Amino acid sequence: MIVLAGDASPSEKHAAAEMQTFIEQISGAKLPMAGEAEGSKKMIVIGACDTQRKLAPEMDVTAMGEEGFAIKTVGPHLVIAGGKQRGTMYGVYTFLEDVLGCRWYTSTVSKIPEMRSIRFGSLDIAGKPDFEYREPYYTDAWDADWAARNKVNGNAPRLDESRGGKIAYNRFCHTFDELVPTGKYLKDHPEYYSLVNGVRQGGQYQGQLCLTNPEVVRVVTETVLTWIAEKPDFRIVSVTQNDNGNYCQCEKCKAVDAEEGSPSGLMLRFVNQVADEVAKSYPNNLIDTFAYWYTEAPPKITKPRPNVRVRLCPINNCQHHPYEICPENKAFMDRLNGWHAITNNVLYIWHYNTIFANYLLPLPDLEELAADVPLYKRSGVVGVFFQGTYTAGNGPYGGGGFMDDLKAYLLAKLAWNSKTDARAVRQDFLQGYFGKAGKPIAEYLDLLHDKVRKENIHGHIFDSVEKAAFLTDDVMAASNQLFDEAEKLASSPDELRRVKHARLSIRYVEVYRQAKKAASGSPAEKREAIADLRRFVKDCQADGIVNASEGGPIQGWYEGLAAPLRQ
Ligand SMILES: [Zn+2]
Ligand SMILES: [Zn+2]
Repeated sequence: MIVLAGDASPSEKHAAAEMQTFIEQISGAKLPMAGEAEGSKKMIVIGACDTQRKLAPEMDVTAMGEEGFAIKTVGPHLVIAGGKQRGTMYGVYTFLEDVLGCRWYTSTVSKIPEMRSIRFGSLDIAGKPDFEYREPYYTDAWDADWAARNKVNGNAPRLDESRGGKIAYNRFCHTFDELVPTGKYLKDHPEYYSLVNGVRQGGQYQGQLCLTNPEVVRVVTETVLTWIAEKPDFRIVSVTQNDNGNYCQCEKCKAVDAEEGSPSGLMLRFVNQVADEVAKSYPNNLIDTFAYWYTEAPPKITKPRPNVRVRLCPINNCQHHPYEICPENKAFMDRLNGWHAITNNVLYIWHYNTIFANYLLPLPDLEELAADVPLYKRSGVVGVFFQGTYTAGNGPYGGGGFMDDLKAYLLAKLAWNSKTDARAVRQDFLQGYFGKAGKPIAEYLDLLHDKVRKENIHGHIFDSVEKAAFLTDDVMAASNQLFDEAEKLASSPDELRRVKHARLSIRYVEVYRQAKKAASGSPAEKREAIADLRRFVKDCQADGIVNASEGGPIQGWYEGLAAPLRQ
């Protein structure tokens, strides 16, 4: 019997229903749901309640926070209880996953074991996340059930109250232009905007704000307070620079920049003033700002207020190698350590885990991720945003980036527990998702990772196909051989489609190179290259892929390569 407290939260009720559903899927038995008064000889008690306190009085649910939980067997009973927001729910999923062996690999592919009798020994498990905010940013990861079951709680997933809600941002990033719109103010108050080469300019891609102007502080504070009043449950409000490098060069701003040794100092002085005003009316809301581009280096003097969350964005890093060991990332390591020193263990990270210029281009960053999520944890980071292929499309076999189905899953596991054995998760995923075909795909991934590790080849998130020199003819040939093998080993049409989807990354490089080469080739070579390109794009579109890069439709990518071949 599944016993649920009378005052169960929406996510606890949902968790009880999930327990019932999956136990039935596993065993065929539908357990009855009951209230506390109907206690039986064998109970699964879900959530803090009198029955839980009687059976397991030592469970201190209030000390577990919003997301922590405990799982405990007591005689013939099983008790799962934790924070009412998401903790109990995460306890139920952890039981189903770690004890019973359920897996939710993608929104459409799960592995639920089958057994007539469910048996397990005595349990005493405590769980809580390593990071307060966890977001693998892939279209498939926005599925509400996938997100709840894999214990992510970030901004984009469609998590409703029954799935524990989420840590929502009130505007997500690059908000200066919305906070002080150029359309509204530039004409009458050019002094609100950044002075660049003698001209005041604002706008998302043209300019920033003049942060030493007290009127700008006033306008931004008023707007932020309006935003919070409209959506008080959205915990974090973003006060973040526009997406360009044109920060203010007026005398006052320049003087602060010089004093602080980095424009991040003035940014914090500005954001702190907003945060102080917000704290007076909304002590539980947080203000987000960036350490990005010209503000990536930490300041010498100013520290963020306790209600400010700084998101550090390692945008220029080599993503092939763990940050601590790649010489290219030395400057970033200094910045990370610098921010760690002044953010009192509440730093957030905006990590990049796809090639934004070529979503499908192989990016062997699984070893980098496995090393750097623990690095973040050691560096006082409490929030992790992993920006992946978020605009590729949303087909049945993942979005449309290199191994994005595997990456979203692995990142969810690492975000919950940074000490997760990433290698074991990878193996489990490949086996569960591709079946027997998972073995050659594992070898393919090893091939790519070994190549960039052993030969010290660096990689970046805006790399071109030309730049991906590690994809030598030998590596391409070996990859194709492994995919041939994988296609043979696939044991169902679905598995075969997943293998073919993963193979699109190798085909992407092939058809690109073929098209470039054919541009100076014979008419027959040109015709063949166009036909291959067309076939490739058709296969991508059949898998739901709409964009080949962050903002570039795959159709446009095709046209760009095919046009020179038609002459
Ligand atoms: Zn200025
Ligand atoms: Zn490197």
